[in-house]
Amino acid sequence: MEKEEIWQSVLAQIQLMTSPANFATWFQNTKISSIEDGKVVISVPNSFVKEWLQQKYNKTILKILKNLVPETKEVSYQIEKGGLKVIEKKPRELLSIGQLTFQELEIDKKTNLNPRYTFSNFVVGSFNELAYAAAMAVVKNPGQVYNPFFVYGGVGLGKTHLLQAIGNEIIKNLPKKKVRYVPCEKFVSDVILAIKNHQIEDLKTFYQNFDVLLIDDIQFLSGKEKTQEEFFYIFNTLYEKNKQIVISSDRPPKAIPALAERLRSRFEGGIIADISLPDFETRLAILKAKVEERGVSFSDEILNYIATNIKKNIRELEGALNILVTYQKLNKKVPDFQTAKMLLKNLISPFNKISSVKKIIKTVAEFYEISEKDLLSNSRRKEYVKPRQIAMYLLRKELKCSFPFIGRKFGGKDHTTAIHAYNKVENSLKTNEELVEELKEIYERIFS
Ligand code: ADP
Ligand code: MG
Repeated sequence: MEKEEIWQSVLAQIQLMTSPANFATWFQNTKISSIEDGKVVISVPNSFVKEWLQQKYNKTILKILKNLVPETKEVSYQIEKGGLKVIEKKPRELLSIGQLTFQELEIDKKTNLNPRYTFSNFVVGSFNELAYAAAMAVVKNPGQVYNPFFVYGGVGLGKTHLLQAIGNEIIKNLPKKKVRYVPCEKFVSDVILAIKNHQIEDLKTFYQNFDVLLIDDIQFLSGKEKTQEEFFYIFNTLYEKNKQIVISSDRPPKAIPALAERLRSRFEGGIIADISLPDFETRLAILKAKVEERGVSFSDEILNYIATNIKKNIRELEGALNILVTYQKLNKKVPDFQTAKMLLKNLISPFNKISSVKKIIKTVAEFYEISEKDLLSNSRRKEYVKPRQIAMYLLRKELKCSFPFIGRKFGGKDHTTAIHAYNKVENSLKTNEELVEELKEIYERIFS
C-alpha cells in the first residue's frame, strides 16, 4: 500500500512539470518495486525508459522522494521481468491522486468518458461562467441551441472536465443518446492508422453515428491537412443531422495556426466561450470543494497559503492538495502550517510565479541601487552594464528565458548580447569571489 501511494504522489508531481505526451511515454508502467534502507528501486518496462529516467529525471525523482520520505538516499531503476505489464486495478482512493490518465481504469468503453468529471464537482465562478452556461444549454437540448460549442482556455483550467461533464450529464438524463469523447491527438492517430489500413470509411462511419461528439484539444489538428479533411467531413455530416459537437482548444479558432479556413469558420459558427484564470476567492472555493470531496481537512491558514501562491491553474491547486493528502496518509496526521509550507516548496518557489521576471529585474535594480528603467535601457554606462549582465544571467539561468527574449527586454538588444552577458557572468563566477557573494545576496532577496 505505502509504496504505491508514494509513487502515485511522485507521479502526480512529475505530471505537473512535464507534457502529457512525455509523461505517458516515460512513466507509464513504472512503479516502486522496493524501498529498503533508504534505497528506492523503481521498476520500468524496458531499457530505453531506464536510461532516460536515469539521465533526465533522476534528480527530480530523488528530490521529490526525499520530500515525501526523508530517509531516501538513492534511487535505482530495474527492468521489470516479463516486459510490459497491465497495471492492476488500484483501489478507488488511489485513482483520485493526480490526474494519471493512463490509470483511469473506470473509463466507459462506449462513450470513452471518465465518470469522475461531473457538474457536481465543477466549481463555477466568473472565470468560467459563460462556458458553464453554454454547457448547461447544450446539456438541456443537445444539437438544438449552440452548435458547435467551442470552449477555449489555458492548461489545467477545466476544459476536459467541462467536456466530460457535458457527456456524463447527457448520458444520465438521456441514456439513449450515443455520446463519444475523444482527445484530438487520439483522433489524429486513428485517422493516420485508418488511412494506412484502408479503413478510413469505417472510421468515418464510426464517428458519424454519434449524437454527441466531444473533441478535446482541437489545436492538435494544426498542420494536419489530411486529418482536417476527414474531420471536416465528419463535422458536416453530424451538423446537418443536428448532432451536438463540442470542441475544446487552448486558444480561439482564429489563433490556431495552419487550420483550413473552412474549418475555422465552422468552429466560429456556433458559440465560443473562454475560461480565464480564477481569482483568489474562487481558488479558495475550489480548494475547499476538493478538500471536502476527499474527506480531508486542512487549516484555513494552509488553504489560504495555497490559494495565494498558486495562481496559474486548477491542476496545480490539486497538485498541492495531493501532496498534503499523501503526507497525511503516510504520517497519519494533518500537516501543520510550517510542514505544509515545506512540503509545497517545490511547487511554490518564487521562480514558479508569473511575476518572477519582474522580481528578478526589481531585485537586481534595488541591489545595485539603480532604477529599473536604467537597468532595462541600452545605456553603456559602467554602473549599468554589470547589473544588466547579471539580470540577463539570472533570467536565463533561473527562468530559462530565451536569449532573443532577454535581448529584447533589455533595450532591444540582439540575442548575441544576451549570450555574451550570460557567458561572461558564468565565467566570472569561477574566479571572482566578490561576484559570488553578490549573487548569493541577490538570490536570497529573490527567494525571501
Ligand atoms: P484542461 O483540460 O483545461 O487542461 P482539466 O479539465 O484537465 O483542464 O482540469 C485540471 C484539473 O482541475 C482536473 O482535475 C479538473 O477536475 C480540475 N478542475 C478544473 N476546473 C475545475 C472546476 N471549475 N471545478 C473543480 N475542479 C476543476
Ligand atoms: Mg484537457
